Amino acid sequence: MFAETPDLDLTGQALHALAGELYPICRSITGDGLRASLRRIQEIVPLQLHEVPTGTPVFDWVVPPEWNVRDAYVANLRGERVIDFQRNNLHLVNYSVPFRGRLTLEELRPHLHTIPEQPDWIPYRTSYYRETWGFCVSHTQLLQLAEGEYEVCVDTSLEPGSLTYGELYLPGRSSDEVLISCHCCHPSLANDNLSGMVVSAFLAQEIQNWQRRYSYRFLFIPGTIGSIAWLALNEAQAHHIRHGLVVTCVGDPGFMHYKKSRRGDAEIDRVVDHVLKHSGQAFEIREFSPYGYDERQYCSPGFNLPVGSLTRTPHGRYAEYHSSADNLSLVRPEFLADSFAQYLSVMRILENNKRFLNANPKCEPQLGKRGLYSTIGGRKDASEFELAMLWVLNLSDGRHTLLDIADQSGMPFAQILEVSRLLSEHGLLNELQDDEA
Ligand code: ZN
Repeated sequence: MFAETPDLDLTGQALHALAGELYPICRSITGDGLRASLRRIQEIVPLQLHEVPTGTPVFDWVVPPEWNVRDAYVANLRGERVIDFQRNNLHLVNYSVPFRGRLTLEELRPHLHTIPEQPDWIPYRTSYYRETWGFCVSHTQLLQLAEGEYEVCVDTSLEPGSLTYGELYLPGRSSDEVLISCHCCHPSLANDNLSGMVVSAFLAQEIQNWQRRYSYRFLFIPGTIGSIAWLALNEAQAHHIRHGLVVTCVGDPGFMHYKKSRRGDAEIDRVVDHVLKHSGQAFEIREFSPYGYDERQYCSPGFNLPVGSLTRTPHGRYAEYHSSADNLSLVRPEFLADSFAQYLSVMRILENNKRFLNANPKCEPQLGKRGLYSTIGGRKDASEFELAMLWVLNLSDGRHTLLDIADQSGMPFAQILEVSRLLSEHGLLNELQDDEA
């Protein structure tokens, strides 16, 4: 059977604790906060950190200058900080250019962003490819600002440096790869970015101990520019990716959503469909769309890789999205653990989705004389088990995979796999090697 699933209560707590450690760090698409976050992940799995220099052309894009923040605030003339990056890094528009000056409230106002419909939340805003600066505040806070003058300090730097990403390659028996990709470029946002990072890190920690059929590639990258950079620098190797998932928004209370790969009928699409249908929980499966996270790049027509995205509530569909309310109260240990378990189920099916050849294909083999009925005699699910044997024997013609058999019979993959192992032990099935299939 499958290797045992780790204790999910403990895993959930550990996932949430790691998200808590990463939460205060001010990440962006480049810079020291991104590096510090990847170094923390390195304490869990041996990620390799790559630095792509500013100015490197990557397809139609260019790696931007590196952004770092020393300090940022708006202070009244008594020197009291009324908006302070040190208290919450969402207060500063990410990638703000340096600025210092004394402004009236009227002059300052175009640089202040709020969410009037959610007056207590701080929005998350970026200005990656525009030379501007700004602050994000709760609408309540904005209304409390008195008329008068303010000292504005945006002590940031935008200089030649590099874009950092983390990569872990775990070789398997095959050079065909499973890609797990998550973005790590958002500052203090828990579901959108941190949940994907911690679940990916724990998946890597688990899978590194497997006797792997596939090779696995874990990418911890800044969104969009990171996947574009990786694809540009690794174009010749990208065809090794046989199955892939983009991991994000996996810690909220919503049910699982799967967005299919652009191909729509890739093996990963069918495996996730199977896992969700047998999860006993609500779920939703959507066709591919060219909007979302890094699957946009992996599924661009020039690559068209079989990469889908498995999330809980998708980005933009929960109220807290891109605001200070996407925090460690929204993301809960039990939902992180549930997502982690569903990802593990997907990987285990990929690893075991083989084809077999019935060694006794002319009429049914006599199961009783081989002791196969007595094997199952005491089982509560004896009739189910017998039916599973008949399905596996009938469809093991070298063309159907175990997932095909599971889907056609309506049985869970784990049961079909268990039966295939038993029948193999009794010499009734021969496994086809990957290159024979
Ligand atoms: Zn986002």
